[in-house]
Amino acid sequence: MSENICSICYEKFEDGYFDKEQSKCIFHCEKNRWNDELIKNFWIILQKNLKHFIVNDTKIEFNHIVFPKFEDDIKLNILCKETNSKDKLIDTANKFIFFNHCTFLDKFEFNFIESSGSLIFDKYCKFKSEQSFEKEKINFEIIFKKTEFENGLFFKEVEFEKKISFYDCKIKSVGFLDCIFYKKFYFDINDRKVINNFNLRFCTFDERVTFIGNKINSLELINNFFNSNISLIALKINSINFINNSFAFNLNFNNIANLDSIKLKSNNVANRETARTIKNSFEQQNNIIEANKFYAIEMQKMEEELKKADKVKISEWLIFKIHGLTSNHSQDWLLALFWILSLSFGLAFVNCVNEYLDTKLEYMIIDTLVYFLIIILSIFIVQKEKINNFYLIGLFYLIYGFTTKDFTLYNIVNNINPFSIMTEFSELTLLTLVYKVTIAYLIYQLIISIRQNTRRK
Ligand SMILES: [Zn+2]
Repeated sequence: MSENICSICYEKFEDGYFDKEQSKCIFHCEKNRWNDELIKNFWIILQKNLKHFIVNDTKIEFNHIVFPKFEDDIKLNILCKETNSKDKLIDTANKFIFFNHCTFLDKFEFNFIESSGSLIFDKYCKFKSEQSFEKEKINFEIIFKKTEFENGLFFKEVEFEKKISFYDCKIKSVGFLDCIFYKKFYFDINDRKVINNFNLRFCTFDERVTFIGNKINSLELINNFFNSNISLIALKINSINFINNSFAFNLNFNNIANLDSIKLKSNNVANRETARTIKNSFEQQNNIIEANKFYAIEMQKMEEELKKADKVKISEWLIFKIHGLTSNHSQDWLLALFWILSLSFGLAFVNCVNEYLDTKLEYMIIDTLVYFLIIILSIFIVQKEKINNFYLIGLFYLIYGFTTKDFTLYNIVNNINPFSIMTEFSELTLLTLVYKVTIAYLIYQLIISIRQNTRRK
């Protein structure tokens, strides 16, 4: 009869504790179609063989083990004491307990370990099912390193007495609700592994919180207390929501916006408070350019709020709308310039057409309508941000140039100054008057926007 030697650990096992098909022992075999009895056996045999896992006085190591469901009454320190009672009493206090290349088919139980040391999941451990922990007090350090969570990881009302860290893990969603962190929180997932959701709600952090190099689609921080520093380093975030958090120290967003500021647009900032929080953070660091970007987003959010308000204050909303459309709330001088040029081309075009055609009222009405149609079209294009505004200006220039033959823009230059003194009697049509007032407003916006972009505190 051949012996049952496990292909992973090379130990000899009795028939009952050996899977002949896989030629792996009860610890290392894949546990498909396992029943309660087999699970019970697993824990009994683990207890009997525990000495194999104790490396030295400070280290216990579980390698390549496929863990089934955890039994409630099995505790690692009891196991240690019982197995070693004859020679030396080993308890798990201050021990490093390593899980290397282990697979957890069911939920992991922190109760399993009563230790004040460290629990380290390393070298491609895998959690097959969702890990959610509730109402626990964890008094050992936890390190997840190169660990994969096939489903989410959630903690609710959990107290972490020691540091918790994540390094280079693969994880889709993480959530902490109503948790207390007495020591540091460290989250360092490299950005090739995208995290869909990261939620922190009603949590308290007593020590430093660090996020490094993560790529998070949606980051949500709601009602948290950060009693120490929070560092967000080289983060890539697509959407961000900060509400009602209390920060003992300034937040530093420098590293978020620098990486992904192009993507971090109004749609991705959840609300006005988030934009304001980020703006304030930049202002405190004298990063005025970034602060201005988030000021613009804050104003856009204000505009959205006014639109959604029960009693829509149309006049207030209109002011925000026009302000946003013409200069992105005094942030975008190019946008103001775009409007000045495009309105001027439009008017000069209409004037030119009027010269060729009759000055009959019908024609006047028609080309005024055409003019407004072009404006509405421009608004639409600016809002969609589909094409660069300056291609549009180029197009307007060509249309204008070819129809009027005024390639040197003589008419435009002479019309554009709203404060020009009319020395002789010249007609001032209603359209020209509206144009002049609008241009005056746009020039004001242009100056303010340039000033905003260069101002220093
Ligand atoms: Zn084995």
